[in-house]
Amino acid sequence: MLATAIGILGGGLTGLTLGSLLPESEVLERDEVVGGLCRSRTTNGFTYDIGGSHVLFSRNKSTMRYMEEALGNNIERRVRNTKIFFKGKYLKYPFENGLSDLSPEDNFECLTGYIQSYYARHMNESPRPQNFEEWMYYRFGKGITEKYLLPYNEKIWKIRAREMSLKWIEGRIPDPPIEDVIKSSLGIRTEGYVHQLNFLYPRTGGIQALTDKIAEKCSSVRTNCEVKRISKERNEFLVQLSESEMSYSKLVSTIPLPSLIKCLDNVPEEVERAAGELKYNSLISIILGMSVPKTKDYSWVYFPGETGLFHRVSFPSNYSPEVAPEGNCSVLAEITCHQGDRIWNMSDAELVEDTVKGLDELEVIRKDDVVFSDLTRMTPAYVIYDVEYDRNIKIVKDFIRQQGIEICGRFGEFEYLNMDACIERAMSLADDIK
Ligand SMILES: Cc1cc2nc3c(=O)[nH]c(=O)nc-3n(C[C@H](O)[C@H](O)[C@H](O)COP(=O)(O)OP(=O)(O)OC[C@H]3O[C@@H](n4cnc5c(N)ncnc54)[C@H](O)[C@@H]3O)c2cc1C
Repeated sequence: MLATAIGILGGGLTGLTLGSLLPESEVLERDEVVGGLCRSRTTNGFTYDIGGSHVLFSRNKSTMRYMEEALGNNIERRVRNTKIFFKGKYLKYPFENGLSDLSPEDNFECLTGYIQSYYARHMNESPRPQNFEEWMYYRFGKGITEKYLLPYNEKIWKIRAREMSLKWIEGRIPDPPIEDVIKSSLGIRTEGYVHQLNFLYPRTGGIQALTDKIAEKCSSVRTNCEVKRISKERNEFLVQLSESEMSYSKLVSTIPLPSLIKCLDNVPEEVERAAGELKYNSLISIILGMSVPKTKDYSWVYFPGETGLFHRVSFPSNYSPEVAPEGNCSVLAEITCHQGDRIWNMSDAELVEDTVKGLDELEVIRKDDVVFSDLTRMTPAYVIYDVEYDRNIKIVKDFIRQQGIEICGRFGEFEYLNMDACIERAMSLADDIK
């Protein structure tokens, strides 16, 4: 049995960042390749992110510096050009900043609904919302909610908005001032959600170029090491893998919380139940290699409508020309589902066919131009904040804390964290540990 100071479970972005900052540590990754959701693949000259399209942005300067330093000069800089596909038109994103692109009737309904909800809130005539659906009506009014917010969100989350809590919303859904919405309705340009207005993307290698570079800074990374069981003997954590056992004086877990609970002995029934009730979505990513140099000029487009199972489609070769062979381009479609549901049970060929057909019907691509396709399934992909989330997460985190195991990252902490937040949390935990 080998002994190292700190064991880090999971070699996604969070685990690798921790490994890069903690000199006497070792990262244990289940899969053959590190990166987790931030992984890319290159086939037939097309490079694509297999956990859906990833771009780099952050309000936090030290996080941004960390990412830029890791990538060195392997960087492309872009200004976001994002749209919402609605009734055959590409509207400016976010929806409430593109109202003048709507038909006059839709524009009027959205604006009056927005103003009515604004006054109801300010005159205290609206009851406080108790779930995500009520919040949409409360904050944006009937028009914007029913035309865009509700159908889009139920398409991506795959649960009813009224079963979701409000916990995750702040900072994730644009919160525009009323003046901007009136301007947008009148056709006066406003930018709206500027958080990811400027973003970076690796020139070569896809998003995995970042995780690979961070992995190089770690003192030890072991792949094909699935953590099966964790126990404690005196002051050491014993981590059982398929064919060996490791020993660490400190343990940080970035693997999904429900998987961590399954690795522990003597877990109280209440904790097991709470961990089992934590909800998440899975993701299917479909890459299409095209024989033409460009299909659309956009970064990515949201699809709230019913055509196609995809809710978002990105155009990776607009992030970097190096991700497709010369004269070709690529299109990446994202579909969410729950393991075992109707979509998950569709074959890869059926999913690709549905995507190509849908994109062709919407004139995003021409199906005859598709020269390559690949599909990947990732689980888990998104944390779902259902109305039971607060209660369940508290029970599970309290128990983990009692075990003396640190948790960090998107599924390690079971929070809706983007890459920059994962790096921030890893930096802060590494400082505490040091
Ligand atoms: C569709 C999509 C698009 C996104 N786009 C962006 C974006 O544009 N910008 C952005 O900032 N963020 C984006 N994100 C968020 C980003 O992917 C995450 O914040 C980040 O990748 C989380 O990293 P992590 O290491 O915490 O988790 P993960 O990537 O899930 O890593 C966990 C690791 O643990 C390993 N593991 C699991 N079980 C075990 C076990 N038993 N033993 C050992 N190892 C195990 C897994 O294999 C995995 O490598 C996006 C997410 C999705 C789903």
